[in-house]
Amino acid sequence: MDVDTRLAEDWVRAIAAAVEREHERLTELDSAIGDGDHGSNLRRGFTAVLAVLAVLDSPDSPSGPSGPSGPAAPAPDGGPGALLTRTGSTLISKVGGASGPLYGKAFRAIGAALPPPGQPPADAAGLGEALAAGLRAVRDLGRAAPGDKTLVDAWTPALDAYREAVAAGAGLPEAAAAAAGGAERGALDTVPLEARKGRASYLGPRSVGHQDPGARSTALLFHALAETTAARAAEHPGEPA
Ligand code: ADP
Ligand code: MG
Repeated sequence: MDVDTRLAEDWVRAIAAAVEREHERLTELDSAIGDGDHGSNLRRGFTAVLAVLAVLDSPDSPSGPSGPSGPAAPAPDGGPGALLTRTGSTLISKVGGASGPLYGKAFRAIGAALPPPGQPPADAAGLGEALAAGLRAVRDLGRAAPGDKTLVDAWTPALDAYREAVAAGAGLPEAAAAAAGGAERGALDTVPLEARKGRASYLGPRSVGHQDPGARSTALLFHALAETTAARAAEHPGEPA
């Protein structure tokens, strides 16, 4: 399966839908150990991302599907990398909380790691490298290590599971499903941890016993990737995964 612009856009839309569905739960988790804004932060961010996508998709947009010269023109396609980079920049500019810059940098790094238009698109292994670049960006900015009770605790096992699946010969949907499982376990495993980074760390031992909201939203991100790639596989049953 190729990581093309449509796959990237479907992924981002699936994340936005998950955030819309789950924002109250994210905010509830953040109310327990933070300031109760994680759901509304991500909702604001992804609403802005959807607005950017709508402009890019619009027939009147110079970079939209039909271009400036009408419906006959081919779609000028900046590629999946540009779309994800744009997603990241939008999150950085619209989300004030810690999660905006962290997810923003992550999406920018994922976008930058994907091949530009004109080069062969990334496959499952290539997307794994991009997801690794995303995690590196989060760690460079936030300085959180695994075990600090942050979104790193979901992203790390997600990436490990993804890479293990690819190494065992899995295609993208299967690797993404493994990553979603890893992220889910990682998010649940933050419950007994004491927070050492972000607002939750101000609570010290009182942060124990609650799931980290950022780890939960990272699990949504990987579940969305699994959904998107499974849907694409179902659409094109003959294609290699
Ligand atoms: P804020 O903490 O500014 O209110 P959010 O509520 O949107 O921002 O996001 C909180 C989440 O951000 C936390 O649950 C945690 O997963 C993540 N986070 C906070 N600080 C860091 C950090 N230094 N490194 C990685 N993730 C972090
Ligand atoms: Mg918060």
